[in-house]
Amino acid sequence: MIPELKVPYLKESDIEHAAMELLRRYSTWKGAAARPPIDVDNIVEGYFGLDLAFIDLTELLGMPDVLGATFLKEKRVFIEQSLDLEGKEGRLAFTLAHESGHWYMHRPLIEAERVVAPLFSTSEIPEQPAIVCRSSQKKARAEWQADLFAACLLMPSADVRATMKALCGDKAPTWERVEERRKKRELDERLRDLAAEVIERGRFTNVSNEAMRYRLLDLNLVIDASNPQRSLL
Ligand SMILES: [Zn+2]
Repeated sequence: MIPELKVPYLKESDIEHAAMELLRRYSTWKGAAARPPIDVDNIVEGYFGLDLAFIDLTELLGMPDVLGATFLKEKRVFIEQSLDLEGKEGRLAFTLAHESGHWYMHRPLIEAERVVAPLFSTSEIPEQPAIVCRSSQKKARAEWQADLFAACLLMPSADVRATMKALCGDKAPTWERVEERRKKRELDERLRDLAAEVIERGRFTNVSNEAMRYRLLDLNLVIDASNPQRSLL
C-alpha cells in the first residue's frame, strides 16, 4: 500500500502564489507570457522536463480510481490512459496541473525529508511511485493542495476576473441559493451557463465546466444574495 503524503498546512493564498510563481517562471523559460489555455503539457514535459506517459494505472498499481502517479527519482509522470480520450480534455489538463502541483510544491519538501513519504529517499522501491493520486482520495491534505494549485494554474485569478469584468461589468452576479446549492452539490443552471461563457470568452478551453463553476465561487465572482458583503469585481 502506498502511504499518504503528509504535508504541512498551507494557506489558500500561499498555494495561489505558488501557482502564479510557476506561471511566471514558465513564461520566462518560454519567452512569452503564458495565457489561457495554459499549455500544461508543455509545463510538465518542457519546463519540468518530466517523462510523461499514458498507461493503465489501475492495472499497474493494482488499485482503482488512480488518475496520476509521480515517480520522483525517475522524473516520470504516469497518467491514467482513459483520460487521454476525446471529451476528457478538462480532466486530463486538470490532472496534469494537479501533478504539477505535487512536483512544484511537494517534491522540494520530500527531497528535504520534511514530509513523510516513505517510498522516497534511498529506499524508494523501483516501479513504485512516491505520489499516487486517486479520485477517491480528495480529502488528503496534499491532494486538496494539489487540486487548488491546479485550479489556480489553469484559471489564473487575474484572467478569470478580467473575463468576468468583460462579461458582467463591475458588479458580480448575485443570486439566491448559490451557497445552499453549492453545499448540496446541486447543479445551478445559471452558474453552468455563466461558466461556459467565461470558458469561451477567456479561452479557458482546457478547463471543464465544473472546474470553472467552482473557481467562480471560490473567487467570489458569483455571490449569494444573502451575503451582505456584495463585493464588486
Ligand atoms: Zn495528487
